[in-house]
Amino acid sequence: MKRRSRRGRFYGALAGAVVAALTAGGCGAGGGTGSAATSSRPTPTGATPSTAPSATADAAAWHKWGLTPLPAAPQPPADKPVKLSATGTVPVFTHIPTSQKVVFITIDDGAEKDPKFIEMMRDLKVPITMFLMNDAIKPNYAYFRQLQAMGNHIQNHTLHHPAMNTVSLARQKEEVCGDQKVLTQQYGTAPLLFRPPYGAYNSDTKIAVGECGPRAIVWWRESMQISNLQYQEADKKLRPGDIILAHFRGPTELKGTTMTRMFGNMLKHIQEQGFAVARLEDYIQPPAR
Ligand SMILES: [Zn+2]
Repeated sequence: MKRRSRRGRFYGALAGAVVAALTAGGCGAGGGTGSAATSSRPTPTGATPSTAPSATADAAAWHKWGLTPLPAAPQPPADKPVKLSATGTVPVFTHIPTSQKVVFITIDDGAEKDPKFIEMMRDLKVPITMFLMNDAIKPNYAYFRQLQAMGNHIQNHTLHHPAMNTVSLARQKEEVCGDQKVLTQQYGTAPLLFRPPYGAYNSDTKIAVGECGPRAIVWWRESMQISNLQYQEADKKLRPGDIILAHFRGPTELKGTTMTRMFGNMLKHIQEQGFAVARLEDYIQPPAR
């Protein structure tokens, strides 16, 4: 796999913290894509979980998948904690500054297209953000439309998944602008965010991203493996506003574990720490056009 052959020099070019995160599962072991879903459990006050009649039905849906329901997500702040500009250097985020006890799930690449995951997302209504890479999704663009129809946003993750810090500015622009064009055509809306493959980027990446349309680079603080979350902090705890990286992966990449099982494992870690899952795009204000 050409992806694997690049890993050696790619790792060598990165700082220690980045290497740790990548070893943990960035897109290094096979790439990733993200998807997002809508929450159907809005809270009127933003302070307390919903106790609406749908709570019982929600619990049954979670139990179907062997899971305990997460707390309902609070209302996102009216004053968005992240405000993006139409001009200037694109910022890089690993988390969203918020005191709300929420985390954000991002899913990269798009290789695995498990119909059971669609069913799971319809049942659980957990919001996700998808960072889709064209080589992975082009056999079946329609799969991701089903997740988009639930309210989940589709974001940019390049055409071919190169380590951006190893290729020219011109190639980086081809990768970002190319994926931007495909995703806009296929999904009807231009991505606002970009995630670099393997988390690898340089100053040219910021230039390419800015010129191709996305207005921010999104990194992460935790990455989901098969059963466990890999944390960057030594205390191994989620923090308010953390962005979690996962991938569309199936049994071939997960040692026999399915996408839905992996995703359920991740939700258990989030539930055990008392966090809700919120929609990343609800905390980000796009630039005024
Ligand atoms: Zn990836």
